[in-house]
Amino acid sequence: MADETQIEEMLEYIWILEENDGKAVSSCIGDKFGEDIANTYITEMVEKQLINLSDREIAFTKAGKKRAEMIIRRHRIAERLLNDVLEMRGEEFERGACQFEHFVNEEIVASICTLLGHPEVCPHGNKIPQGECCLSAKKNLEPVISPLSLIKAGKKVKVVYISTKSHASLDRLTGIGVIPGLELTIHQKFPSMILQYGETQLALDNDIAKNVYVRIIQS
Ligand SMILES: [Zn+2]
Ligand SMILES: [Zn+2]
Ligand SMILES: [Zn+2]
Repeated sequence: MADETQIEEMLEYIWILEENDGKAVSSCIGDKFGEDIANTYITEMVEKQLINLSDREIAFTKAGKKRAEMIIRRHRIAERLLNDVLEMRGEEFERGACQFEHFVNEEIVASICTLLGHPEVCPHGNKIPQGECCLSAKKNLEPVISPLSLIKAGKKVKVVYISTKSHASLDRLTGIGVIPGLELTIHQKFPSMILQYGETQLALDNDIAKNVYVRIIQS
């Protein structure tokens, strides 16, 4: 019986071969997954009408391309999440993204995509296929998420996430109540950034403000 995860991994790899070399040949699939597994699954994918094989060259069918596009999208959105928000690197990062793509559904991907401001490229610089959420965000000009340090004075924003490796600055932010969900106004930017929320006013170093990702809720 065909293992769906294995099929998804292969579709993903075919996509990457096409992206890098302009075409995918069956021997490359063999090099990556082993000759036997590659042959079994290529036959399987042809039967399922996900790919066509002609003279060792693999081409997606319409359905296969759609499926591969979704896997690539999930993988690259996962990369952004793991890299930007969770600050994972190396082995943990690579494995995490590949596991993630097999178990999340489109709804979760759309929420994460929105949270991240509909990123267009992954941390490696590869294009992320767009989803419905990205298209409707463009239409409605939904404000994207950006670092607090780039927002002009006078704007009201909502904290979406905090991205920092430094536990000291994370502790400082939580200590003063700057946590995801907080709505605040940028009172002043120079000479130092002053934030206002409720009755509270506080100064924030630009170094720390860089790590606070917000969405503008009122211009
Ligand atoms: Zn993968
Ligand atoms: Zn990537
Ligand atoms: Zn999106």
